[in-house]
Amino acid sequence: MKASRVISSCIEIVLPRSCVLCGSPMLLASSPLAAGPATSWPLCPACSEGFRPWAGDRCASCGLPLISELGLCMRCRGVERAFDSAYPLYSYEGRARELMAAYKKTRRRSLAPFIAERFADAIRRRWPERTIVPVPPRPGKARLLGWDQVEEVARRLEALGFPVARPLERGRSAEQKRLGRWERGDNARKAYALRAGASSPELPLLVDDVETTCATLDACSLALKAGGARSVAALVFAAD
Ligand SMILES: [Zn+2]
Ligand SMILES: [Zn+2]
Repeated sequence: MKASRVISSCIEIVLPRSCVLCGSPMLLASSPLAAGPATSWPLCPACSEGFRPWAGDRCASCGLPLISELGLCMRCRGVERAFDSAYPLYSYEGRARELMAAYKKTRRRSLAPFIAERFADAIRRRWPERTIVPVPPRPGKARLLGWDQVEEVARRLEALGFPVARPLERGRSAEQKRLGRWERGDNARKAYALRAGASSPELPLLVDDVETTCATLDACSLALKAGGARSVAALVFAAD
């Protein structure tokens, strides 16, 4: 472990901290100073409570909230998806967006258990029979950031007793952000494949952090179906 990691771990244990979303002071459960309600993640109880998945009507395909439409959202009409259904827990805005920024950009790994708990609730309710398949990062990206944000959550889910398989790998492709929405779809389709010799679980549940175009889920689902998946469902923390 690098010295900086050791130091930041020590600081996390010893010092009272503030909630990553609202800034109110709080103590972590692991802190010897903790008293009263405390959590093992850097979110205060009020902000933790505020994360409730959308309970209204959702698009039958991408899972995004439906406002005035019925059945399918405008984006999914006339579009064939390789996955059978997707379910984002939150819209990628407000607190969910701030949380993802804190987790990914400022590397708050201590948020991983919170994210895993939100996923675990949904998996127990909706897909108790499915095997979790984390969406792999682009090789360059994981190396650049030094860790894989989705894998970190998958490991927590595994520790909670959920079955996890890792049959997918991601090849080199142009940076998604530099491409337009439609080019991105085509680019992503070619970017995922089964690892050599791997096959898909019969009922995989793809897990990803943020989805904006469904292109990643589509590409992973194509690879999984080619590898033997009967149907593919996807669970995403936030989508827009
Ligand atoms: Zn808070
Ligand atoms: Zn849709």
